[in-house]
Amino acid sequence: MFKIEPKCSKCGKGIKGNEEVYIQMKYPARKGFTEIKAYLQNEGQFICEKCMEK
Ligand SMILES: [Zn+2]
Repeated sequence: MFKIEPKCSKCGKGIKGNEEVYIQMKYPARKGFTEIKAYLQNEGQFICEKCMEK
């Protein structure tokens, strides 16, 4: 799904496939939703489940 290797922005842990993650991002103001993948690579911050529980 993602070509990038997502990492948790808090602990730096790599996100494995099928792992539940949270994405913190600003909603694109001008770009269409079709560009969401590219937008995520630039603006998205992944947070792993463990860090989210804290
Ligand atoms: Zn984490």
